[in-house]
Amino acid sequence: MSLITQAFICLRRQRFLWSRYHFSRGLAGLGTRSSSPPSSTQPKRKLGDILADVVKTTGPISVAAYMRQCLTNPESGYYIKKDPFGTEGDFITSPEISQMFGELVAIWCITEWIAQRRPQRIRLIELGPGRGTLMRDMLKAFQSFAPFKNTIVDICLVEASPTLRTTQHGTLCDSATTETEDGFSSVTRYGIPIKWYINLKEVPTDVTSFIIAHEFFDALPIHQFEHTQNGWREIMIDYSVPQEKTALSLPGQTRSFDEDPKFHLTVLPYYTASSKVGPESSPRYKSLPVKSKIEISPESWDVAKELALRISEQRTPKAPTGSGAALVIDYGPAETIPVDTLRAIKGHHFVSPFEEPGTADLSADVDFTALTLVAEQEGHVAVHGAVEQGDWLHALGIGARATVLASQQSTLEGKDRIAKEYHRLVERSGGAMGKIYKVMAFTPRGTPTPVGFGGGVMDQGDDDVE
Ligand code: SAH
Repeated sequence: MSLITQAFICLRRQRFLWSRYHFSRGLAGLGTRSSSPPSSTQPKRKLGDILADVVKTTGPISVAAYMRQCLTNPESGYYIKKDPFGTEGDFITSPEISQMFGELVAIWCITEWIAQRRPQRIRLIELGPGRGTLMRDMLKAFQSFAPFKNTIVDICLVEASPTLRTTQHGTLCDSATTETEDGFSSVTRYGIPIKWYINLKEVPTDVTSFIIAHEFFDALPIHQFEHTQNGWREIMIDYSVPQEKTALSLPGQTRSFDEDPKFHLTVLPYYTASSKVGPESSPRYKSLPVKSKIEISPESWDVAKELALRISEQRTPKAPTGSGAALVIDYGPAETIPVDTLRAIKGHHFVSPFEEPGTADLSADVDFTALTLVAEQEGHVAVHGAVEQGDWLHALGIGARATVLASQQSTLEGKDRIAKEYHRLVERSGGAMGKIYKVMAFTPRGTPTPVGFGGGVMDQGDDDVE
């Protein structure tokens, strides 16, 4: 099929898709909330005090261990106990900015489903669904595409936080939640069974998966290393009176060398198992000169491999290289290795990652090249991107969608709001979201290049691929 024909089909379908929407936003009166996190009457020890004791007992801990405790410690982790999103919270994400984001992700899933000859049974999986806003907007969009909607067997959300699981349930369901052997389950307002898991590995693999990970990988723990004269050494977190020579600074952190012990980064003078293995694991790191620093996230590699295997192992005679897709949207460099990117955000400002552990969002840039290498080599899929969010959204038709939405607004304020949302999502200047956020997709090898990554809508027929 020629490029022009593809483009034509793509545009025609986009218009067709948009015109069939009924865009009333907002599910007023979000449903029942059950399974609240357990409450305790015991005064809790602060996470910072617990971590300080751990360091005093065992010596410095890795950045990964620190991040994991700060974010997902079952008692005091940042995500475990609060809803951090929105203007009242600590940060805002693309799905919370505009419904357009979820709609375009939904369109992408449909185009990919068409390109893969319409698998007849699919599972939607979302990793780290936050408030459930992205899934809500996707499900609303799917209502206009019965052939796709009718293939959704269930929705599986992978969420570590009981608080956010309750919020997601309120966003997506009217029915109560039941606790099952392997997690929690309910039914969405659209009648689709929905289940919650803590780990992707627990999600069944019996049908084709369409998996979305928006701002999930940046929350996964990273290790930091420095290439010293004596070889690679891990940069760890110490709790002591910082020495000028060893204490490193971070974004949002003011270096002070008073007499009080505090958390700070320090380069270990000796090697550890991870400093032997991590930087040796890829030629990308091994070749770096002395004084180089790197961040690596083996937990992210593990998830990328799991995503890719889910796709490539879903093979049938009609889908010999696998079935399904994964869409990863996050911030980080498309090619280079992240360096010194650990950051903490509270109340929409950068703060020190060491200020009151567990009370600020910690994150680090995603190394998209590392994810690509793992997915291609160990997961046997085709990887597309990472491309900039602004380009991807434009390829999916955000311009046309914003125009339609604005035309439906009766007030100037309404039209202005849509314009602002559009610009916020696609703007590329000065480190804006359209540029720093990247989009990457995993698809079965040999299937057409997806929309948004250079491909058009490819209708391959509907051979009832199982
Ligand atoms: N995708 C949402 C939320 C992003 S914030 C949005 O864009 O609005 C990160 C999400 O991942 C939260 O829901 C958080 O609770 C979840 N999360 C963080 N670490 C996790 C882990 N290790 N396992 C499962 N979920 C995790």
